[in-house]
Amino acid sequence: GYRARSAFKLQQINQRFRLIRRGDAVLDLGAAPGGWLQVAKEISGGRVVGVDLLAIEPIDGVTTIKADITAPETLELIVEALGGKADVVICDAAPNLSGNWTLDHARSIDLSRSALRVAESVLKPGGNFLVKVFQGDTFLDYLSEVRVRFRRAQSHSPAASRKESAEMYVVGQGFFIPPVKAGD
Ligand code: SAM
Repeated sequence: GYRARSAFKLQQINQRFRLIRRGDAVLDLGAAPGGWLQVAKEISGGRVVGVDLLAIEPIDGVTTIKADITAPETLELIVEALGGKADVVICDAAPNLSGNWTLDHARSIDLSRSALRVAESVLKPGGNFLVKVFQGDTFLDYLSEVRVRFRRAQSHSPAASRKESAEMYVVGQGFFIPPVKAGD
């Protein structure tokens, strides 16, 4: 069995978008207790690394790191564990909910920005990105930031999470670094 119900969400999302493929190196940010890691490992069979503030019970063939994804020094630990670039970065990180919608949204966007920054550092060209975001007034700004880095970026609300209406996913496919324009 899976450690978290969210495992089924990742399966559904992956059936639709094929973000993770056989052999892919996958980085999972905010990975505890490890449901997404279990699914990522099943699909890819390749290198899988998970990061969380909380300790993660061991999973066969998966490397886990206990660290804060918003801390710049965590990047070194990630790069070391990956031993190369990642094909896919997924992030289901969530703040502790305060019940204040605006505050929870802002914290969620902070985590999602950190995930995007990590993805920019570790993804191979053409790589894929999946991040959970709580809806709110800066959601579209965040989507635009993802759009600059991926050939295709879209928001997605899977059937399994429609009832918890605050939860959205942003899917980025085809990572690229935009060329620097002359004069920039
Ligand atoms: N996808 C996971 C699974 O399938 O088991 C569930 C992830 S859970 C919804 C969100 C996680 O984000 C929590 O375990 C929490 O500790 C983690 N988290 C929140 N802020 C974080 C941060 N700054 N750095 C690392 N992990 C963080």
